[in-house]
Amino acid sequence: MYEVVIGIEVHAQLTTNTKLFCGCSTQFGDLPNTNVCPVCLGMPGALPVLNKRAVEYSVMAGVALDCTINRTSVFSRKNYFYPDLPKGYQISQYDQPLCLGGGLDITVDGRSKRIGITRIHMEEDAGKLLHQGADTISGSTHSHVDLNRACTPLIEIVSEPDIRSAAEARAYVETLRQRLLYLGICDGNMDEGSLRADINISLRPTGSDQFGTRTEIKNVNSFRSIERAIHSEVARQTALLQAGTPVVQQTRQYDDATQSTRPLRDKEDSHDYRYFPEPDLYPLTISDEWITHIRSQLPELAEQKAARYGELGLSQFEIDVLLSDPSVSRYFESVTALGGRPKDSAKWIVGDINAAFKETKQSFDDTRFSPDRLVELLALIESGKISGKMAKDILVECITSGKSPAESVAASGASQISDTSELTQIVDKILDQNLDVVEKVKGGKSNSADFLMGQIMRETKGRAKPDLVKSLIADRIAAR
Ligand SMILES: [Zn+2]
Repeated sequence: MYEVVIGIEVHAQLTTNTKLFCGCSTQFGDLPNTNVCPVCLGMPGALPVLNKRAVEYSVMAGVALDCTINRTSVFSRKNYFYPDLPKGYQISQYDQPLCLGGGLDITVDGRSKRIGITRIHMEEDAGKLLHQGADTISGSTHSHVDLNRACTPLIEIVSEPDIRSAAEARAYVETLRQRLLYLGICDGNMDEGSLRADINISLRPTGSDQFGTRTEIKNVNSFRSIERAIHSEVARQTALLQAGTPVVQQTRQYDDATQSTRPLRDKEDSHDYRYFPEPDLYPLTISDEWITHIRSQLPELAEQKAARYGELGLSQFEIDVLLSDPSVSRYFESVTALGGRPKDSAKWIVGDINAAFKETKQSFDDTRFSPDRLVELLALIESGKISGKMAKDILVECITSGKSPAESVAASGASQISDTSELTQIVDKILDQNLDVVEKVKGGKSNSADFLMGQIMRETKGRAKPDLVKSLIADRIAAR
């Protein structure tokens, strides 16, 4: 029997407006090679200038992951050749990183576990190669180089080898992503490569305290792929060890189509990179005051919000949906700040609004149905002007047309009838038309009243206020 040992390096792109060492935009999706300058193109003589906001965000990550923030850290050159790296080296941090020794609590199947964080360091990203004629570099005819991403700020968060299963690995990356999202320092968009994981996997006989030979699976960019890549690599290593074949230390790539890993290159050691201190940048020094300030300004994290929402009476399911993205919890908090009752607001956001936004491809951050509109809708329900069922139709109408709930109600003339004298007339009319049913109700057949209710709803096209109709039916029959 073997025990699985996993450590994960997560590369997270920081959401600064500009790059790590120059003023170029970090905007994703712009035309290739439009956000570039002599610094990020690696022109001789161009000098890097450190982005202060990127340092602030990195310190925030360190503080929020219980790390020690080094008062002095050093940028180093990591030397290697690749066409997406025009300088011939990446500016990173090596033996004196910004943050050391932290941890992150994860929960798997209701059991909580702390995964140690070895270090967090800052570095610049490389550019991007676009292979032409095939998906893979080996099958392509030629490749284009886009340097828009070159020099965008990253933090690399290195975990201890504390992870023991694919489920724990997934929970770790999910929890880490959520932590960074709620700090507001990374958009967590794995499709666009804003967050990617390198997974180190080795096996050892159960009970052993020696590590086995590990392989590293590079750039896994979805939660599903993380689990699948680990399952496939564990199966591969298990088969090798059982056959008495040693595992070779190497870097591998996971292919989702075949759900297997294949070798990229034999693993290089850090001395292959000829690290040396970056001569164009001073050592980075950080004052105690700045760290204290950053700590005091830390936004409310997902775990803290979850506890607070629980106290508001929300269910775990509602809490999970509200926290699934900061835009959703921001929307919820705007609604409650404007006077929406938490429980009602959550019910609408998690249910009908979430579904309607998905269908109309609107986001909680960018929608015509802004938080004040939901507050308006809730008030219309509360005042009895519309029923809950009518509100669902009005919601869809408002989301597609951009009208306010009050406008939508006025335009359709669809307000709920809650006027007692108006409803009494309708109830009397229906009772007169159904004298036999009235007799049945009088004789104790209370479910016959449901038939009368249905007739009244039909007469009013569903606009009658149900509880008022119910009491009127009872009163008017008793009065006969
Ligand atoms: Zn630049």
